[in-house]
Amino acid sequence: MSRFCNPKLASLEAYTPGEQPQDRTYIKLNTNESPYPPSKGVRKAVAKATVDRLRLYCDPNATALKKKLAELYGAELSEVFISNGSDDILNFAFLAFGADGILFPDISYGFYEVFANLHGLPFQKVALKEDFSIEVNDYCGKGKMVVIANPNAPTGRTLTLEEIEKLLKANPDNVVLIDEAYVDFGGESCVGLTKKYANLLCVQTFSKSRSMAGARLGFAIGAPELIADLEKIKYSTNPYNVNTLTQAVGLAALQENEYYMDSCKRIIKSRAYTKKQLEKLGFSVIPSQANFLFAKSEKIGGMELYVKLKEKGVLVRHFEKDRIRDYNRITIGSQKQMQALITAIKEILGAC
Ligand code: PMP
Repeated sequence: MSRFCNPKLASLEAYTPGEQPQDRTYIKLNTNESPYPPSKGVRKAVAKATVDRLRLYCDPNATALKKKLAELYGAELSEVFISNGSDDILNFAFLAFGADGILFPDISYGFYEVFANLHGLPFQKVALKEDFSIEVNDYCGKGKMVVIANPNAPTGRTLTLEEIEKLLKANPDNVVLIDEAYVDFGGESCVGLTKKYANLLCVQTFSKSRSMAGARLGFAIGAPELIADLEKIKYSTNPYNVNTLTQAVGLAALQENEYYMDSCKRIIKSRAYTKKQLEKLGFSVIPSQANFLFAKSEKIGGMELYVKLKEKGVLVRHFEKDRIRDYNRITIGSQKQMQALITAIKEILGAC
């Protein structure tokens, strides 16, 4: 930290993103990207976006994209917020709604703690149960904002809509943020509950199921009052945070929504295949409704497996953290990639 920096940042521990190696090509199963390319319309949208348009500022309201999202999710324009990836939305939401404190699971998306610290907000990490499921009662009536990824990451476990309604009813004076980054891979979205509960903010992303992690596009759906709060922060930081190209490709992707939902089905199939194969090799695999599996083996430590797979050109995600250091999070890639993963693991275990 330089001597010029705000001392409040001294103890801030930044988020460590998954590796994005530029040195060689890996079978990349470490950051939950889609193995499938964006749809044809996205390619056309990129080709059509003339360089000349880049001379002008983008539409800060992303009107066309917002309209299409509103249509697809049965919402009003005033109920939709768009931003530069869902991380951006989480950041804004913590700042807007976290003043009374924030509750989130001890094993969840690492950025929650970073955002809470960045904004100097009190937070409490609530322990997941032994099987990594969430005890909903732990989040009821505590007078704090609740943030839960559903499906949770890195476990892949889900809450039911009934459980989410319980959270919403038990916390009427606090925002319940449901992070649905992985919902298209088999979870149940709570978007439909946003009309009924003024305290629900449902956050989604184009990074996973819509094959567009590099475009940086996320959206939230909630009551107009919540969306207006987020807009206020966006317009107080960077009103142009979703650039012209991203708006164009986002809109094109929504026009071909079926393509993406089909890709999700393929991923769900490969997930079932991978789980079965890993279990055959003696792994314990947490039931997952996301595009990744969280698995551990009695035969090899989590870190060792991660390192050996990397040597073989397969990248998975290992978290050197209490409770989960025996595990690896394995993104579901194409069927071919998953077969290559299983072959690599067989070779590694054979040599153990
Ligand atoms: N929420 C969860 C649970 C995630 O795993 C991720 C991806 N790292 C995000 C949000 C952020 O995704 P993005 O900013 O790419 O939309």
